[in-house]
Amino acid sequence: MYTMPVRRILELGDPMLRVVSAAVRTPAEAARVFEDLRDTLHSFRLAHGFGRGISAVQIGEPKRLIYIELDGSAYRLRNPHLEFESEEKFRLWDDCFSFPDLLVWLERAARVRVRYDDEESRTRVVDASGALAELLQHEIDHLEGVLAIDRALDRTSFATRQEWQARYAGARQRSGE
Ligand SMILES: [Zn+2]
Repeated sequence: MYTMPVRRILELGDPMLRVVSAAVRTPAEAARVFEDLRDTLHSFRLAHGFGRGISAVQIGEPKRLIYIELDGSAYRLRNPHLEFESEEKFRLWDDCFSFPDLLVWLERAARVRVRYDDEESRTRVVDASGALAELLQHEIDHLEGVLAIDRALDRTSFATRQEWQARYAGARQRSGE
């Protein structure tokens, strides 16, 4: 029986976070990883007070799998592909499981369309705006080895969580992982 569902989360500096993740051919191959992603996300959220999305590479499995929980819905995306992103952008303080105490001010597309494979190997499309759009972009970046820090708007775009709480919380929108 598999009994180690909560996995260690890779942290900034781990070279695996810079790897381009590999496609996952079957739902069976994805299923165990999705379970671990879900359990790890829940555990992280209890410990840190935030957490809505995670990519497989963050638990040391460089596979193109993303797990998101938002507004009571769970999304299990295998081989997601960003098919469209709007010209319209919005800015937010982003955060990440892999550097939970660092906030990054960056820009994301306001609307995206993502194509992915579901658990029955059907191709699905999700049209997203707002928080889901931003989460999808954050997690798909992970699959390419791209991190939020790479998208910082300038050198003032970083804050520790403590400084962010003191200076920005409430004043600007934060979404993040
Ligand atoms: Zn992240």
